[in-house]
Amino acid sequence: MRLRFAPSPTGYLHVGGARTALFNWLLARQAGGAFVLRVEDTDRDRSRPEHVDAILGGLSWLGIDWDEGPVFQADGLARHRRDAEQLLDAGRAYRDFTAREDFERARDAAVAAGTGTVARLAREMAAAVSPEESHRRAAAGEPFAVRFLVPPGTTEWHDLVHGRMGFDNGEIDDFVILRSDGTPTYNLAVVSDDGAMAITHVVRGDDHISNTPKQILLYEALGAPVPSFGHLPLILGPDGKRLSKRHGARAIEAFEAEGVLPDAMVNFLALLGWSPGTDEELLSRDDLIERFSLERVLKKGAVFDAAKLFWMNGQYIARMGAGEVAAMLRGMLGGVGGAGDDAGRAAVGPGEGGGGAGAGEPGPDAIPLDDAAFERMATALAPRSRTFVEMARLARPYIAPLDGYDAKAARKSWYRDRAGTAELLRAVLDGLASTAWEAEPLEAALRGLAAERGVGAGKIFQPLRLALTGLPASPGIFDVLLILGRERSLRRVGRAIAHIEDDP
Ligand code: GLU
Repeated sequence: MRLRFAPSPTGYLHVGGARTALFNWLLARQAGGAFVLRVEDTDRDRSRPEHVDAILGGLSWLGIDWDEGPVFQADGLARHRRDAEQLLDAGRAYRDFTAREDFERARDAAVAAGTGTVARLAREMAAAVSPEESHRRAAAGEPFAVRFLVPPGTTEWHDLVHGRMGFDNGEIDDFVILRSDGTPTYNLAVVSDDGAMAITHVVRGDDHISNTPKQILLYEALGAPVPSFGHLPLILGPDGKRLSKRHGARAIEAFEAEGVLPDAMVNFLALLGWSPGTDEELLSRDDLIERFSLERVLKKGAVFDAAKLFWMNGQYIARMGAGEVAAMLRGMLGGVGGAGDDAGRAAVGPGEGGGGAGAGEPGPDAIPLDDAAFERMATALAPRSRTFVEMARLARPYIAPLDGYDAKAARKSWYRDRAGTAELLRAVLDGLASTAWEAEPLEAALRGLAAERGVGAGKIFQPLRLALTGLPASPGIFDVLLILGRERSLRRVGRAIAHIEDDP
């Protein structure tokens, strides 16, 4: 099997293109065939080198490697012209000297008159020019387009997704294959290239279905073998309409920037229109290569659900080893353990004080955590994070000074009884000061304190959590204490007491 991905570099690699590339790649890898990359850059005005870079970069990020290419379609211009000439010589195409405006005027008149001859209008107009005259005018340098002479009959194929498909040739107009400036149209270029690259299977979006009969007719007229075709369902937004930017039809790069992992993205893209036939959702690359098949591709639209992508990404994070999570988080924070450098700050984003009162924690921006504490933090945050970007944000209270207390949480668990809370936290401070800094003694100390005072443990954990992290939610309180370490924990509790007592 020889498959290809043939993007036009008129935009970035988006979800639909990435899915087309992935399905072709999966089929090639499964069959031990070839996956060829062809850049369809014949539209000189709209093609941009930065889009080529973005497409190649997006594929590389996804781990979709190609065996041949990138081949640039524009390099095949001479062959495209030769193929058009072959069709002219064989009488399967004709020169059309009609100026565009003249054609459009005649077409509008035919539509207004309801004569129903629009599909053959170009042919009727060209018939006024004899073959000799056509030669003479071409030789004299008069510009002309080349149109394919659509034969009578029907064009059918067995679509690998949709099954039998067919078009009545009478519905297909004599389409242009070579423009008057000598450039090929999409249908000629694609057939010429797929033929030259010996492509056996063309798998692409449903939006190309109406091109397929034209392309099959061209293969046949050129005497080239016709590849198999499979058309993938459109990707829809949650509202059932064609996926738009609003729904997440962003460049693949944007998902990378949001912290989506390539394996999760590949898994998610694979399920956009394909299902393994069970309710399994987490499938590795190897699983996908083994189990993918076009027979299990949906015929109707596939719905893009961004929430599912982020859920899936969280599942991938949850399955990573502690060391790997820590390394990824370090990378996200800018290659250092703390958030002090610019890269770390950028990844972490604005502080989370939420308008709360300042914690007034002095000192350098970055708080160095030792490797064990950093790994403990990463492990504790992993189940709470759908992406590493989110994890970096959640890590902030542990790697940078507190820049405030969540105002709502402070009202709820501190300010209702300022004196009582300050007294409670003072008891916590005393208790912890004499406790060994390990999970079990810390737990025994805090639970003992709760029992002693006849309150539920939560009555202690919540005000303490706010003192330690500035937030109403965090990993388990013992994890928090161990990540921050004795000195910083005690200092933060002391500072919280001062803040609470400092009645505004
Ligand atoms: N260049 C075309 C596109 O980006 C794809 C052509 C094809 O796959 O046949 O839509």
